Amino acid sequence: MRIILPKEQIKGQRITISGEKARYLISVLRCNAGDELQVFDGKGSFYKSRISGIDNKEVKIDLLEKIPFNTESPLNLILMQGILKGDKMDLVIQKATELGVKEIIPAINKRSQVRETRKASRWRKIAEEASRQSGRTGIPKVHEPVDFSSWLIANSSLKLKGFIFWEEGGLPLKEAIQNIKMHDIRYTIQDKKDHESCIMNPASFYLLVGPEGGFTKEEVKLAESMGLIATSLGKRILRAETAAISAVALVQFLTGDMG
Ligand code: SAM
Repeated sequence: MRIILPKEQIKGQRITISGEKARYLISVLRCNAGDELQVFDGKGSFYKSRISGIDNKEVKIDLLEKIPFNTESPLNLILMQGILKGDKMDLVIQKATELGVKEIIPAINKRSQVRETRKASRWRKIAEEASRQSGRTGIPKVHEPVDFSSWLIANSSLKLKGFIFWEEGGLPLKEAIQNIKMHDIRYTIQDKKDHESCIMNPASFYLLVGPEGGFTKEEVKLAESMGLIATSLGKRILRAETAAISAVALVQFLTGDMG
């Protein structure tokens, strides 16, 4: 069993938790005193722990041993996803988290059917739960929704690196990947002496996927003018959620840690 607690809450040998996390242990996992537990701090460690006391409101946890732990992807991937209707956006957030993205930016495109949303906090909870379930060390940051074109223009000085996925054109993904430099996407690269050297804060690598209605030609042209590469996922037109999940998985396979 594992739970994620904010690092600031993990102090001393014994911690007492209440509220939502305690309810999860008490009512969902039906824990008892003596049960073993892994407490993750979301920042690169977990604690081998044991429940030393539990009632209907609070749980006392003894932290036994701190274990350095890193299941994070070596890629610095940011998924910018045209906001999707209903629970499709929940699915994309959950799967992109399991697949290791570092940040998710919900976007409002010209053809978005969802023009405004107050679901950011819901999506953050989904990202935290998916991090916990997949045993991730970190939790991806879910941004507040942005207007697609204004965001690109506002960030034009950053020399953005990444792909805009476009079913009407673009380079095949494998070819697009061959054109990028590993230090533009990876935190760590295999160097000559065959051990990993760390690139501090590589440029973020953006994967842009459109809403159900797709990108306009103008949006694709704007993204290309900012340095992003129009990239194809093949001849079939995928649903946006299929495209997003496939794109992250394929990029992880080709350059990350799923290969
Ligand atoms: N224009 C599409 C149509 O005619 O149905 C609608 C867009 S598609 C459902 C949603 C998004 O998925 C697109 O904006 C694109 O980002 C991505 N996508 C779907 N199929 C793709 C493909 N074969 N290659 C690249 N991206 C694709």
